[in-house]
Amino acid sequence: KITLTPTIEQVINKLESAGFEAFVVGGCVRDSLLGKRPHDWDVCTDALPAQVISCFNGWPVIETGLKHGTVTVIIQGFPVEITTYRTESGYSDARRPDQVTFVRKLEEDLGRRDFTINAMAYHPRKGLKDLFGGQEDLHRGIIRCVGSARRRFEEDALRILRALRFASVFGFSLEKETAQAVNLCKERLAMIAPERIRTELDQMLCGQGVLDILLAYSPVLQVILPEIGEMRGFEQRSPYHVYDIWEHTARSTASVQAQRILRLTMLLHDIGKPSCFTEEGGEGHFYGHDRKSAQMAGEILRRLKYDNETLEKVVQLVGRHGDCFPAQPVPIKRRLNRMGEEQFWRLLEVKRADILAQAPDKQPLRLAQLEEIRFVLQKLLAEKECFSRKELRVSGTDLIDIGIPQGPKIGELLSDLLEKVIEEELPNEKQALLNYVRELSK
Ligand code: ATP
Ligand code: MG
Repeated sequence: KITLTPTIEQVINKLESAGFEAFVVGGCVRDSLLGKRPHDWDVCTDALPAQVISCFNGWPVIETGLKHGTVTVIIQGFPVEITTYRTESGYSDARRPDQVTFVRKLEEDLGRRDFTINAMAYHPRKGLKDLFGGQEDLHRGIIRCVGSARRRFEEDALRILRALRFASVFGFSLEKETAQAVNLCKERLAMIAPERIRTELDQMLCGQGVLDILLAYSPVLQVILPEIGEMRGFEQRSPYHVYDIWEHTARSTASVQAQRILRLTMLLHDIGKPSCFTEEGGEGHFYGHDRKSAQMAGEILRRLKYDNETLEKVVQLVGRHGDCFPAQPVPIKRRLNRMGEEQFWRLLEVKRADILAQAPDKQPLRLAQLEEIRFVLQKLLAEKECFSRKELRVSGTDLIDIGIPQGPKIGELLSDLLEKVIEEELPNEKQALLNYVRELSK
C-alpha cells in the first residue's frame, strides 16, 4: 500500500546491509496511508548517529541534531533525515526534552511520538508497525495522543497546537480525552517560543477544517492571541451582521483562499473592533476600527516573529479591508498605484470573504459590486492602462533630453505626471506629457 521512493529504499538497504534496522516513520507513513504524496521521508534506525554517518561514508551528510540523534543525508539532491530510536525525558520547561536517550527498540521510539496517526512506522517487507491504533484513527478522522493526553501536553505544550493543526489540515476532530486535555493544559502554551507557535498557526489557518477549530477552541487560541477574548460574544449591532465578531472572523477566515497572507488577514481584520466601539450617534459604531485593527495586527505579528514582508502585507490589507470605492477606472488605478497589483487582487479576495461572513440578505448586492470592480480591473490590466511609472510613456531620460537638469526634480516631475495620468487629467502620450512639462518649466 505504501510505495517508497527508490532513494528511500536505498537508504533502508544501506543501513540493513550494515546490520541495522531501518523504517520510514511519522508524517510520511500517515500521508501515504491518506493517499497523499509525502513532502519528505523520515527514517528511523537502531544505528547510533556515528554509525549512520560511517554507513553513508562518502555521501554529503549534515549533522543536523547530532545530540538528538538526527543525521541528514543528501541523496541525489534529496535530504533524508535519519534518526536513531530514542526516548525523551524531563521536560522541565515544557519546550524541549532535557535529555534524549537512545534505545534499541522501534516500539519505544514510537511511544514517544505525539499522536497515534504520527506514531506508525513502515518497512517494505516487514509491513506496517501500528502499536496504538493509528490506522483506525486515521480512518475515523481522529487526533488522539499516544498515552495519557494530559501527560503528553504537560511534557510539551506545543503538541496542543499541533493537535489543532492536524485536526484543521485533515478536517479531523479531537478524541474526547485529547480534547479535554487540550483545554486543561492550554495555559502552558504561554511557555512556547513564538517561532514554533507561528509555524503551527500558519498551517492550522490554511487547513480545510479551520472554521470548526476556530469556533471550538477559541479559549486555547486566546492564550496566544489574548485579543480574541474581547471579540467572543461581541454583537455587532448592524444590519450587515448576524454573528458576533469572533464567529464573523472565523467564518471569513474559512471563506478566503487557503493562502497564508489571506488567512492571517481575515483572522486579524476585525481584531481592533471591540476597542473602537462607541454608543455615540445612535445604536453604536466602530469608528476607525480598520486603522486600529491594522495597528494591532502589526503588534501581534511582530510578537509572533513574522517576517517583515508578511507583516507589511497583512497590515495593509487589514487597514484597507473596509475601503469603499466605486467600480470606476480612476479609483481603481489609484489603488493599484498605492498597493501594487498583487495586493489589490488580495484586497478583493479579502472583501469577498468579509461579505461571505455577513448577513445573507446583504450579500448579493455587495458581491455584485465586487464583481464589477473585478471586471473593470481586468479591463484596465488587459489594456495596459497606466498606474505606475512602468506604464508611463515618459522616462527620466526623456525629461533630460528636453533640457530638465538631472537631479531630484526629475523624480518629482515623473510623480506629478503619473498622478495626472492616473487621475485622467493628462493622456498617457509622450508628446502631450512632454508639452505639459515644457509649459511648467517656462
Ligand atoms: P508534517 O511534516 O507534515 O508537518 P509530521 O508529522 O512529519 O508532519 P514533523 O514535525 O515533521 O511532523 O515531525 C515528524 C514526526 O516526529 C511526527 O510525525 C511525530 O511522530 C514526531 N513529532 C514531531 N514533533 C513532536 C512533538 N512535539 N512531540 C512528539 N512527537 C513529535
Ligand atoms: Mg515531517
